[in-house]
Amino acid sequence: MIGGIEEFVDKEKPEGYYERLIAELEKVNSKLHIFSSINRQISSGIPFSVKDNICVSGVESTASSAVLEGYVPPFDATPVERLKSNGFGFVGKTKMDEFGFGTFGINCKDHPRNPFGDSYVTGGSSAGAAAAVSVMKYHIAVAESTGGSISCPAAFCGVVGFTPTYGLVSRYGLIDYANSLDKIGIIGRSSRDVRYAFDIIKGSDSYDTTCVDHQINGENRKKLIIIDQLMANVDQDILSSFDKFISKMQNLGYSVEHRSLPLIDKALAAYYIISMAEASTNLAKYTGFKYGIRVNDFSKGYNEFFTEARRNFGPEAKRRIILGTFVRSASVKSRYYEKAMRFRHMLIDALNSIIKDGFLISPTMPIKAPAIKEAEELSPLKSYSMDSITVPPNLAGLPHVSFPYDYINGFPVGVQLVTSHFNDYALLDFVQGWEEEFNYRFNYDVGAI
Ligand code: GLN
Repeated sequence: MIGGIEEFVDKEKPEGYYERLIAELEKVNSKLHIFSSINRQISSGIPFSVKDNICVSGVESTASSAVLEGYVPPFDATPVERLKSNGFGFVGKTKMDEFGFGTFGINCKDHPRNPFGDSYVTGGSSAGAAAAVSVMKYHIAVAESTGGSISCPAAFCGVVGFTPTYGLVSRYGLIDYANSLDKIGIIGRSSRDVRYAFDIIKGSDSYDTTCVDHQINGENRKKLIIIDQLMANVDQDILSSFDKFISKMQNLGYSVEHRSLPLIDKALAAYYIISMAEASTNLAKYTGFKYGIRVNDFSKGYNEFFTEARRNFGPEAKRRIILGTFVRSASVKSRYYEKAMRFRHMLIDALNSIIKDGFLISPTMPIKAPAIKEAEELSPLKSYSMDSITVPPNLAGLPHVSFPYDYINGFPVGVQLVTSHFNDYALLDFVQGWEEEFNYRFNYDVGAI
């Protein structure tokens, strides 16, 4: 039995179970900085955590940004509300890169540390979410991905990160990064845990008209497709271990096909243009007037009033405001924003035709979790380039899952599997098949709270 939370539901909880859980979590948190807040009131339910850019009623929700310090939403985001009313108990808010801007989880105060080695990154931007899953045995994390923020930390922390088809889960209550790309998904210890929670949070919502009730398929496909360009920058040790994974799949009857898709090399540029353009419009509202921290009183001049509030953005948010505003400005938008949007449609068509009878497969990340120091020294461009594999399915709104399949030098590495829109269950079936076939068990050594 690999699925943990179904077992948990049926289990008699010993007296004081939740008090002990919270005490243990606080201990872990003082070392790993995974949570921005822990709910000491939890007294029943399957523990679930919520990424800090998703609103929880009565709990400070800041998207790890100083601009939103002190913001306490008076309502639950729809996925949170659905979990609370279906047997889950809210355990805490998890840290993230500010507003979702980052790949390593280091763009926030007291950033999270990897449970497999605390001088290493957890991956981002759902940094605390993935780390929390790897230190808690019975728990799922509600997270969000714009361009890989579920897959990447799931791979670095050795857990299953599932990003559903765009529009299957309501975004009501999400603090937006880039609306045309944002998706709420689930991180768990196994495919079964993920499915259990996904079945509760999915489905239409009158508060989010982009969210649909669509039939979700589980069409198993026996063909695995590798796009050669995506493998170009993958580290050698990850490539060799991925090759071993592919041989195992071939032994199980999967065929493997290599395809060339040169246009995919432009996906990263298109993603960063579109996501920054949308981010800069979303962040425009944090002026201290209606939204965002109020630093000055109204007696100050207009400029001074909102400049003081906006000083609270971190360096990466400022960078994205400047670049995002530039790419959509009147004189250059046809050269950048509009071109990126046209490219996005070409990519969607190309990916749809490639994956119609198979799964796209690759390592999730081109590297293993780097040391914090190493990640801090990367230039912004180098850091963005680490998203080359996770960005394409996100740009196309395609469902994808990252799951752990190996350890290299004690650190987990993940495989990313992508399928067609609304074929989401096929991903979870595939991962469950892998977990059962190889009796894959998460390495519980890093924590079994
Ligand atoms: N690393 C990507 C970025 O910084 C993805 C982040 C995300 O999915 N929220 O934009």
